[in-house]
Amino acid sequence: MATLLVSQRNFESHATPAGHPERPDRIRAIEEALRPELFPALWRRDAPSGDLTLAELVHEKGYLQALAARRPAEGMAQIDEDTFISSGSLDAVGTALGAGLSALESVALGEVANAFCAVRPPGHHAEHDRPMGFCLINTIAVVAREAQRKFGAERVAIVDFDVHHGNGTQDIFYNDPTVFYGSSHQMPLFPGSGAARETGAGNICNAPLAARTGKDEMREAYEGMILPALEGFRPDFLLISAGFDADYRDPLAQLNWHPEDFSWVTRKLMDVADRCCGGRIVSMLEGGYDRQGLATGVAAHVTALMS
Ligand SMILES: [Zn+2]
Repeated sequence: MATLLVSQRNFESHATPAGHPERPDRIRAIEEALRPELFPALWRRDAPSGDLTLAELVHEKGYLQALAARRPAEGMAQIDEDTFISSGSLDAVGTALGAGLSALESVALGEVANAFCAVRPPGHHAEHDRPMGFCLINTIAVVAREAQRKFGAERVAIVDFDVHHGNGTQDIFYNDPTVFYGSSHQMPLFPGSGAARETGAGNICNAPLAARTGKDEMREAYEGMILPALEGFRPDFLLISAGFDADYRDPLAQLNWHPEDFSWVTRKLMDVADRCCGGRIVSMLEGGYDRQGLATGVAAHVTALMS
């Protein structure tokens, strides 16, 4: 069965200030890296617009209205030190969510083996009651809830290899034994959460990594902590928060991962998904701020998903 790439035609609708690392060019770099000549076997779909009212499955009541109220008629407004909302941001967030939901449906119905969504802005820092860290809505959290609500998955796992801890995803599911959240991330680093002692209702598995560490420490974190915990959880569906800012070239972090490390972690997650849930994986882009690092990491990740 095929791997599906869901792309986002309106990725430029979410604007950030000049020099901001989370910029539209990130998606252009991925489009070049995954162009049809290089990946002829990849199924491709343009993201439909998703129902943003579903945000309230994971965010507090009125969250979307509050976000919409901060959106300027033109230009952009600042939400916190590094999070911005522009006039078109909610359109982009809508298709980012639509990408995830469309991928979820295709994988759940068995039309494709797995899927990767190349979307922005990212989502894993958005908490129950606040946008944060470039993220406006926690997209993957909504997809996880829809996997349960619409497709009957009882246990959904989210594994997050973005170099930053997904504080938002952890916050949303902290006391929910039906959703597993496993994360490898550099620590100390933004946002500051993600210590190994943060275990929620036994459904949270954090594997912090020290700056300047690479392949060996990463493999130890997965083989010693995250993969056994994930397998023990027996997910019905696996979602991946795929950030590529652990790449050795990334300007926002100091881990030393190489493209083959993204390939390795992807294959290991696929092995667990094969054993637990018929290989069903939906992967969604989170961070990755070096153009080359992002392009080569995504290519390695998608190549593994297709294998
Ligand atoms: Zn990140």
